[in-house]
Amino acid sequence: MKHISRRQFFSGFLAILGTASGMALLQSCSKKSSVVKTTIPNGVPEGNAMAANLKYATQASLVPSTLRVDKMGTAGNGQFCDNCQFYKAATEGNYGACSLMQNYNVPAKAWCMSWVKKQG
Ligand code: SF4
Repeated sequence: MKHISRRQFFSGFLAILGTASGMALLQSCSKKSSVVKTTIPNGVPEGNAMAANLKYATQASLVPSTLRVDKMGTAGNGQFCDNCQFYKAATEGNYGACSLMQNYNVPAKAWCMSWVKKQG
């Protein structure tokens, strides 16, 4: 049987421990991510200047209340793309085209600063 020194034993143990804790950290990071990537056909591209300027968010519920303020008699937390004047629902799927966002599709529960209460 091969003799392993105490130093070799502990350095091996620490390497295993480091790998295991690193994996656990990576897994917890991926689980805690609150931003859900929404993949919809012809969605607003990452880095779109209009979207950035209007603080567009694919999940309205993640927008701070200091941004998503009460407007036109609608509470901030009641504003979503699907009740915005610029939204036209797709025939299927939970998204629609936004005429303000160059007709890119946006999720029904997204939001941006240009939200306007849908009429009628
Ligand atoms: S303009 Fe309206 S539909 Fe378009 S992204 Fe903003 S809130 Fe959504």
